[in-house]
Amino acid sequence: MTQSVIEKLPEEFDTIYLAPEKRQDRPEFNRSLLEYQDALSICLSSVENTLPTEELSLESCLGRVLRHDQICSVHVPPWNRAMMDGYAVKASDVSRASSQEPAILSQIDDVPAGRMSSKRLGHGETIRIMTGACVPEGADAVIKVEVTRKTGDRVEFFEAVGENPYIIARGQDLSPGDTAVTVGSLITPAAMGVLAACGICRVTVSRKPEIAIIPTGTELAKPGQAIRPDQIYDINSLSLFGLCLSAGTAPVSAGIVQDRSGDLLAMLNRHVDKDLILLTGGVSVGDYDIVHETLVKAGVEEIFWRVKVQPGKPLFFGKRGKTLIFGLPGNPVSSFVNFHLFVRPVIDKLLGKREWGNEIASARVTNNRILKAGRRKFLRGKTKRTNTRLEVEALPEQRSGVFSPMLNTDALIEVPGDVQLLKSGEIVTVHLLNTRV
Ligand code: AMP
Ligand code: MG
Repeated sequence: MTQSVIEKLPEEFDTIYLAPEKRQDRPEFNRSLLEYQDALSICLSSVENTLPTEELSLESCLGRVLRHDQICSVHVPPWNRAMMDGYAVKASDVSRASSQEPAILSQIDDVPAGRMSSKRLGHGETIRIMTGACVPEGADAVIKVEVTRKTGDRVEFFEAVGENPYIIARGQDLSPGDTAVTVGSLITPAAMGVLAACGICRVTVSRKPEIAIIPTGTELAKPGQAIRPDQIYDINSLSLFGLCLSAGTAPVSAGIVQDRSGDLLAMLNRHVDKDLILLTGGVSVGDYDIVHETLVKAGVEEIFWRVKVQPGKPLFFGKRGKTLIFGLPGNPVSSFVNFHLFVRPVIDKLLGKREWGNEIASARVTNNRILKAGRRKFLRGKTKRTNTRLEVEALPEQRSGVFSPMLNTDALIEVPGDVQLLKSGEIVTVHLLNTRV
């Protein structure tokens, strides 16, 4: 469903929107900032509905989110199933068997997987059976072939039934009425296997959220294109594209927008049908930062602007129709961190997942770090598991303008704003970054 576009582009939108001298007077520049948890709660409560659903075959649903409980309607396994190649027996017939005094039974049938024996086992009898075959009636154990010797129809057993009778009982794995996979689960390879075991071949999942990624910045150039001396390559389009893919969404790279309101409005108009728009850059209070004002001018309802976090303070969050709009900071580290803290939980909720955002854990920090009091910090960290404990190192490079240490980052260390010294040995909160594809 396409929403109405923004019809009127005021003339001044083709130039920088607000003159620097006028900016100083804007009251919103001085208002107090939202705390991280408050901003996150607001983001989540702005997601009113989960996305519509679609029905997919099992082959195409990896990484999707299940929208109905999947109830098993069969017994898994459908009959008592042999777990070994060997002989089906009555355990009591071989209870005294040993290597010196083997028990001796006579073989009355032979069942491979895929066939049922029509015979019922009596005392003194055994049936040759293969892994996966139906255990015949009357048998209550399988003895593996390695501890037997067969001579004609006579089978010697050199061991009694141990702790494991090598039978999985009918329905022991799943029974009719069992919930095989619950609503809100991510469909993993294991879930695909469980659904297949129940004979289910189609499932109802959330459709993928459609996301437009719009980088703003007159200095940006597309990787692969010739670059002027005053340009830098656009990182955010690609790093956010990867983050969006790994979050199970359908992103599009909209292309670079110059720091001009008119250009930004035109680009927004092209993406009014998206579930989510991720803008980057131009959202702070610099003279050429046109994003906040342009969004407000374009009829985007401002839900909040600026959060007391570092990195990522300039974050804008708003809504237009059903489209949620994030204005992320231009610094690639800041937008990456903001994605994990705010965008990922929103995506998870839109998708109907049971849990939203990254896993949060406690870890012992392994180095000292002096910090400036002020905003709540999310330091880049590298975790290590030692025996039973999770450890985390705060990486030496924490400036948000330097992106490459992100490669080595698998956690964000959350530090309250008043902490000025992070001491080695302290227990800290870490957000474990889940970006597996
Ligand atoms: P801004 O938020 O527009 O003030 O940008 C902050 C810093 O991030 C500036 O140094 C920008 O050049 C840089 N930056 C903004 N957008 C991008 C991007 N898409 N890729 C790489 N760097 C960017
Ligand atoms: Mg900029």
